Amino acid sequence: AGGSRAALWEKPEPQPDPGRRAKTETETDTRVVVITPPSVMDPAPVAPRPQPPGGSVREVYVAQYDYSARTNQDLSFNTGDTLVALDKSPGEWWLARALTGVSASKQGYIPANYVAPVESLDAQPWFFSETRRLESERLLMAEENQHGAFLIRKSESHAGELALSVLDNGKVKHYKVIKNESGQYCVSRNRAFKTLKELVEHYSRQADGLCVQLGSPCKKTEVPLPFSMSFDTVDQWEIDRKSIKLLKKLGAGQFGEVYEGLWNGTTAVAVKTLKAGTMDREDFLREAQIMKTLHHKRLIQLYAVCTMEEPIYIVTELMEHGSLLEYLQKDRGSTLHTSDQIEMAAQVASGMAYLELQNYIHRDLAARNILVGENNICKVADFGLARVFMKESDSVYEAKEGTKFPVKWTAPEAINENKFTIKSDIWSFGILLYEILTFGQMPYPTMTNFQTIQSLSQGYRMPCPPKCPKKLYQIMLDCWIEQAQDRPTFETLQWKLEDFFDLDVSSYDDASPY
Ligand code: AMP
Repeated sequence: AGGSRAALWEKPEPQPDPGRRAKTETETDTRVVVITPPSVMDPAPVAPRPQPPGGSVREVYVAQYDYSARTNQDLSFNTGDTLVALDKSPGEWWLARALTGVSASKQGYIPANYVAPVESLDAQPWFFSETRRLESERLLMAEENQHGAFLIRKSESHAGELALSVLDNGKVKHYKVIKNESGQYCVSRNRAFKTLKELVEHYSRQADGLCVQLGSPCKKTEVPLPFSMSFDTVDQWEIDRKSIKLLKKLGAGQFGEVYEGLWNGTTAVAVKTLKAGTMDREDFLREAQIMKTLHHKRLIQLYAVCTMEEPIYIVTELMEHGSLLEYLQKDRGSTLHTSDQIEMAAQVASGMAYLELQNYIHRDLAARNILVGENNICKVADFGLARVFMKESDSVYEAKEGTKFPVKWTAPEAINENKFTIKSDIWSFGILLYEILTFGQMPYPTMTNFQTIQSLSQGYRMPCPPKCPKKLYQIMLDCWIEQAQDRPTFETLQWKLEDFFDLDVSSYDDASPY
């Protein structure tokens, strides 16, 4: 089926990219950076794009997170270090020189999403862009934070809205930050500030009507991932399997085993090893080509593959708590409150809303295919793989007329007419909500797959799980609407879940006049 593997994985034709060409004689001035020799597995060193003659205004950035060098071409740095960007053309990885910190005066590559322009709002440790109410609660409740921890959040979908969220004796309180007629910021009417920084400074000195004086900024525990393992695996996805060390078996799925691994002796990764014959290689590689272009903080990032020999390796980001299904069923699940469950569902909806926007279909959305990290972070895994795997029969993936489906998660039109769309993913999301609310119970617990199909065709739907808010059950029922086109979009589900407790104006505290 289709072109050869080599063609699919060939390195792109060399582009006339000055950032990647070899150094020429005319580029021997001091502005050309000479990079230290490559390690065994690094490709030839690259010369950066020369800076404009006469020197340019170089942009200074502040590190938002700690980063440990993964190869000898990138730079280690710590939160708060300043770096100057020398060449941003590679995109995900920039060539930079550290001005302070462990790498002071050294040059190398840095992940672009770890830094923010100096003096910008994004560089403020307390500013959490695109953070919704429930997410801010999850972040502030993390054990790293203490009484008085706070953040100011901006919501992209609610343009212009700002809120101050503060941890007060184990509970999070929220204040609206309003811009008054003269463009000044205030949380209470009697005091206005020209900048958010001044507002924060004021309430850090005194509570002045807030529930508590502001303490330390909320810890940024969710470190973003670079989109690729390193600067040189951006284009080169087929990597040498010798660069991967398998450390510990994490689990076994239908298609092979999953290991915790170490890439290049530096970078923790998950490695899925695929049993021979579980899929068509060409099919997989075609799908992987698409999967590698999908980047979202709620999707498991595909990093690299090793396909030259069996077993094929799929190298992805590592999630420390494994699958959501196991997480819900074990002790961890029992400590979750309804608000945590809704927040986790909102995270999944946000990853799926991204896939929806990319016109991509998951085909096997279920708690077993969601992975959990620190602080209840959830990410969607295995998107698109269902299409390429030749599934072995088991109780979940039961055969129906020669094809195998996770019957209890699959929309009727997908089972009956093989119509897989984003709307059949929506149906599965409804089942996933049910799994979350029942702490990982098997859907339709008393029915066989066959009985489930039959009951659904007669209009049966699962009842509201115990302790599940009615409003949430209604969302499940919306996902299970017979007519696929009448089901909601993931975008709608995302905001409905994110704003679940936020629609009520009284959910904000008032800063009492002092
Ligand atoms: P699967 O083959 O995808 O069903 O995976 C089998 C098991 O391996 C899962 O239930 C997880 O517990 C674990 N696992 C899979 N992928 C990862 C990952 N990226 N990080 C951590 N654990 C994983």
